[in-house]
Parts: sequence; structure tokens; C-alpha cells
Amino acid sequence: MHSATQRNNGDLFIDQVALSTIAKQFGTPCYVYSKKAIEQNFIAYKNALSDQPHLICYAVKSNSNIAVLQTLAALGAGFDIVSVGELERVLLAGGNPANVVFSGLAKTSFEMRRALQVGIHCFNVESESELALLNETAAELSLQAPVSMRVNPDVDANTHPYISTGLKEDKFGIAFDTAIDVYKQASQMSNINLIGIDCHIGSQLTEIQPFVDATERLLVMVDQLSELGIQLNHIDIGGGLGVRYHDEQVLTVDALMKELLPLFSERSELLVLEPGRSMTANAGILLTQVQYLKSNDHKNFAVVDAAMNDMLRPSLYGAWMDIQPITTNNTPERQYDVVGPVCESGDFLGKDRKLSIAEGDYLCLFGAGAYGFVMSSNYNSRPRVAEIMVADNEAHVVRARENFEDLIKGEQGLPVK
Ligand SMILES: *Cc1c(COP(=O)(O)O)cnc(C)c1O
Repeated sequence: MHSATQRNNGDLFIDQVALSTIAKQFGTPCYVYSKKAIEQNFIAYKNALSDQPHLICYAVKSNSNIAVLQTLAALGAGFDIVSVGELERVLLAGGNPANVVFSGLAKTSFEMRRALQVGIHCFNVESESELALLNETAAELSLQAPVSMRVNPDVDANTHPYISTGLKEDKFGIAFDTAIDVYKQASQMSNINLIGIDCHIGSQLTEIQPFVDATERLLVMVDQLSELGIQLNHIDIGGGLGVRYHDEQVLTVDALMKELLPLFSERSELLVLEPGRSMTANAGILLTQVQYLKSNDHKNFAVVDAAMNDMLRPSLYGAWMDIQPITTNNTPERQYDVVGPVCESGDFLGKDRKLSIAEGDYLCLFGAGAYGFVMSSNYNSRPRVAEIMVADNEAHVVRARENFEDLIKGEQGLPVK
């Protein structure tokens, strides 16, 4: 996938804009995204799918900034959402509701109602109870709910346990063995319209085989259902394509499709994909400044102004993210733990990194465009950081840095006696 940054005479640029310019203009920490890189990632999917009838539903949860959604909506992308909040964002960004699939295992009746009213493409249903509530909700509105069942194909995606979702023990989806029965039940429901089948086996996948195994299992089920008189017209194989954070051998979307598309050659169903990380991770970085350098007997620490509340991945998953100074210099190289100001020992962005840095230098955390800002919080009463997007080589604030007013919005204390 396209990486949005490049070095020129030692200075790091995102498209044609120097990160040092952005740091001085907008302050740190901030996320910086390249519109062009997001577009290129989407186009890579389009090209790889070529003649196969398809719908690419960008997984909004990976980066839900409205500018990101606008960029993708303008290219005709569909969207994979997991809450009504994400649905409202998509609508605000000009996304077409007819190209929205609604994932998530705990949809409320309120969320279902809104999605039915705007006419989404389908609900990815994860349980019999959800199916019953959806049927009821649709009946109240005198509408038909388009449904794709999320089945759990029980394949091992060989990824981190927190982001593996397609194993028997995971909380997601309907068990493969019972899915046929759930389809049969659904086919008898007055306000359910069965249109597809869906799976999502995990995230940051770097092997082709789990995708192939899962797809083959779905196709077998589609054929079994067809024999029972239940005709589906789309097959959704989820997202999960991995990106390079470190030295992972990554799978290109081309290589993946070369293996997957032959499975669809004799078929007429629409192929639906839900890529998140592979669309946005390498299109964004987190920019942070070194506040203090300190050492003890064991370690050197680079204390930076970004923390786990701004970027949770290293603390949550032990994720390794590349960290480099935005301007190369001659300071002697030392080994540092790059840590933030939050009062938790788990607050780090990187450990044991060899860096040539001085206090005041700016650092770039690469691959921060996905599961970055969206997972940020106000822990330690830290305002959430600004988001910047570079479009046509101009930097725009696409979400303002929060201030104290934002931090206490809605808080009113106890009534004064
Ligand atoms: C998270 C998620 C995705 C996107 O996964 P990526 O690894 O970011 O591509 C797609 N579909 C569902 C149902 C998800 O939960």
C-alpha cells in the first residue's frame, strides 16, 4: 500500500508538504493524513477487482473523520458501519446509504430504525435475537429489512488474539453449524429480506490462505442455501488485509484478488469487501514533539507530548509502530523508550528505539491513519489532538484540537444548595 511520506534532503514530507511546516503551523501532537494516499489505496482495490461485480465498503471504524469519508464517498465507495453514529457521519459526508452495510453484534432497535429509514444496503446480522428484533422493528415501520448473516467460518487467521474474530471461541457471528437453520427461520419472517452472507475473520492478516478458506466455506453454504430455495445475491468476505508497520511481509490487494477472484468466476453474486486498515493506516502519521530526555540506570526515555490516550495501539496490543525524527541530524544515536505524559507505566509509543534526537525535536509515528485518532480518549483530562489533511499539497485542519470547554462539555457539577 502507498505510504504517504517521503524524505527529501533529510526532511520528511507528506505529499509535498514538510512535516516541520505542519508542526509549526498547527502545533503538536496532531494526526496528518494524505488525501491522495487514501484515494490511491481505494483505487488499488478498484483496479484489483476490475470486472468482478463488487462493492467496496470502507470500514468507518478505522478512521471516521468526515474528510476521510468525503474523500471515499467522492470515489463512489460504500461504507461498513458499526453504530448509528458512524451512519450519521457517512450521511453527513455525502455517502450513499444504499451502499452501507451495518456490522456489529449489539445493534439497538433505535439504530435499526434509523438505518431502515435511510435505506441501507443490508444489516449484517450476528444472532437469532438480533434477527427477531430487526424483524419486529421493520414490521413497525412497514419496511423490509435487507439481511446478510454474519457467519463464523472457524478459520484461524494467525493474528493477534484481540483482533482475531473468526474462531469458534470469538464473540462474533453465528456459528457455522447453526447458520443454515437461522437462514431457514429468517426466510419465514414477514419483514426480513435475505440478500447475502458475510464473514470477517480478523485484522492485520498477512496470509492469503485464511481468506481463501473462509471464502470457500461461505460459497459452500451459499450453494446449500440455494438448494433449499434461499437465493443470496451477495457474498461479503469482510476486511482484514494487513499493512506493513515494521518488517511484515504484506499481502497486496492484487495478490489477494489473484487467489480469490477465480473462486467467483462461475458465479453471479456481488462480491462485497470491508477494508479499513489497508485503506487508511499508511495514509496517516502522528506528529509529536520531544519534551524531555531523561535516563536512569537501565533506560533512556524520550518523553513526548503524545500519549496512550492519543494513540492506544502500542499499549493495547503491544503494536510496533515505526518512529523517526522528521529531520535527520547528527545527534549521537541512543536507545530510547518513547513514552507519553500519562500516569501509567503502560503509556508508551515505542520501546528500545535507536534514535538521534534532542529535546524539542519532532517525531513521526508512521502507519497512524487507522485505529489512531478514533481510539483516542480524554484520559488524564487531555484534550484530543488536531487532525490535519493534506489535499492538493495544502494542509487543512479537518478536526480542531479540543480545548478545556470541549473537555467539560455536558458536565455541570452538583446543583448549588
Ligand atoms: C473492523 C472490521 C472491519 C475492518 O477491518 P480492517 O482490518 O481494518 O480491514 C471490517 N468488517 C468488520 C465487521 C469489522 O469489525
